Amino acid sequence: MNRLDDELIQAVVVHSRPAPSSEVPSDGGEAPILDRTALLEQVGNAAERARVDPTYGFSVLIVELERLKMLVGSYGQAAVDEVLVEIAKRILGLLRPQDALARLGGGEFAVLLDGVHDRARAGRVADRIQKTVGVRYHVQEHTISATAVVGIATSERTYEQAEHVLRDASLATSRARGKGRRRRAVFQTQMRVEDTRFMAMVSALHGAVADDQLTIHYQPIITLGDGALHGFEALLRWNHPSLGLIPPSEFIPVAEETGLIVQLGRWVARRACKQMASWNRSYDTSLHVSVNLSAKQFQDEDLVRHIKTALEDSGLDARRLDLELTETAVLENKEQAIRMLNAFKEMGIRLSLDDFGTGYSSFSYLHQLPYDTLKIDRSFINQLGGSGGSNEIVHAIIVLAHNLRMSVVAEGVEEGPQADQLKGMWCEYAQGYHYARPMPADDAEKLIADKVRY
Ligand code: C2E
Ligand code: CA
Ligand code: CA
Repeated sequence: MNRLDDELIQAVVVHSRPAPSSEVPSDGGEAPILDRTALLEQVGNAAERARVDPTYGFSVLIVELERLKMLVGSYGQAAVDEVLVEIAKRILGLLRPQDALARLGGGEFAVLLDGVHDRARAGRVADRIQKTVGVRYHVQEHTISATAVVGIATSERTYEQAEHVLRDASLATSRARGKGRRRRAVFQTQMRVEDTRFMAMVSALHGAVADDQLTIHYQPIITLGDGALHGFEALLRWNHPSLGLIPPSEFIPVAEETGLIVQLGRWVARRACKQMASWNRSYDTSLHVSVNLSAKQFQDEDLVRHIKTALEDSGLDARRLDLELTETAVLENKEQAIRMLNAFKEMGIRLSLDDFGTGYSSFSYLHQLPYDTLKIDRSFINQLGGSGGSNEIVHAIIVLAHNLRMSVVAEGVEEGPQADQLKGMWCEYAQGYHYARPMPADDAEKLIADKVRY
C-alpha cells in the first residue's frame, strides 16, 4: 500500500476494548468493529478533550452505502453481508490505531478520526474511503459494484454530547445523498436551518395538494418514422403562489421521503388519464400518456386498484396508458413490484423502463419483467455524435431492446442530428427539447388539434 501522507496509516485498528455486539459478521481474526454505544463513548471522550484542550480536535465520518436495498434485491442479503464485511475491512485498512470504526446498522458506518479536526484532512480521508468502497467486490459468483456517500462533522464547533456529533454527521450525509452519487458533505450550521426548511417544504407541499397548486405539464413523445405525435409524458409541476414554478427535482424527493408521493401519484394518474381520454375523444386520436411511478408507490398495496379506477373513471383505453418506472423502483420492492407489474399487464397497460443506463442496468432482469418500452437516459443521447463510444452504446441498447421485443424511446433529444442518428438506428420514439419542452395542457392540446408533425 502506498503511504500517501500522514493520514494514511496501514495499521489495522486495535481498539481499546473489543466490541461485544459487532453487527458485521466477522470471519475470525479481523480487528473488532465497535457498536454504536462503544463508538458514542469514544466520541464523547474526544468531544470532552476537545472542549478543554484547544490543540486537540476530531472528526466523525458517516459512510453510507448507496442503493443498499437494490443491492440486496439484486444479489441477496448473504452476498451483501459479505460486501459489508469487506467494506469494514477496507475502511479499517485506512485507519490508524487511535481511530475507530463502528457499524451503525444497514449500510451505515461511522468513523472517528482522532486528532483530525480540519475539514480538508477529514475530506481527504473520506475521499480514500469512497475510493476503496468503490473497488469492485467478488463475492459468491458475483462481481458487485458499490458506492458510498460520506457526511462529516468536525470539532470545529464545540460539542457537549456525542449524539449531537453523530446527528450533524448524519445530516451532512443526507445532504451529500441529495447531491447525487458518491458525494460527500461537511456539516455546516446552515444545514440545520435547511433541515427546518425541509420541514417547511413538507408542510407547504401538504398545502399545495389542498390548495390546488399542483398541475401537470405534458411533453410530446414523437414517432421518429413519420414525425407524428405518439403521446405525452405527464410531468408534475408545483405552482407556488409566491415562489413560482418549483421543479419536481426539488419536491418529489421530499414527497417520497414523507410518503406524500402516494397521494400525489394517484392524483397525477387520475388527472393524466382523464386528460388524455378527453383529447382522444375530442380529436379522434389514439395518443398515449405516460405517467411516472416512484419506488414508494410500489409499497402502496392499493396502487393497482387506484390505477384501475383512474382508467375506469376516465374511460381511457388501458392500451394508451404507459407507466414509467425505474429499475430502482422494482428492485427496492421486488416481489410486490413484480406482482403489480403483472397485474398492470393483464389490464392491458404498457410499461416503460425509465432512465435506462443510469441504474444498475441488470440485464438479467430485463427479460424477466414485462416491459414494453425502454427509455434510454438522456446522458447517452446528449453524447451522440461524440467520440466517447456513445453511438455504439445507444445502438447496442436499441438492438438489445428489439431482441427482447421492446420498443425504444430516446430521452433528451436536443438537436436535429441526434434525431437523425436515432432514426438510422431504428429507434422508434424520441422526446426532448429539440421537439418541445413540457408544456401546459392547453398548449399540448393545440399540438393535437393542429396534427403537428416534427
Ligand atoms: P423523468 O421521468 O426522466 O422526466 C424527464 C425529465 O427530463 C423532465 O424533467 C423533462 O423536462 C426533462 N427533459 C425532457 N427533455 C429534455 C431535454 O431535451 N433536455 C433536458 N436537459 N431535459 C429534458 P422534469 O419535468 O423536471 O422532471 C424531473 C423528474 O421528476 C422526472 O424525470 C421524474 O423522475 C420526476 N417526476 C416528474 N413528474 C413526476 C410524477 O408525476 N411522479 C413521479 N413519481 N415522478 C415525477
Ligand atoms: Ca419519466
Ligand atoms: Ca427519464
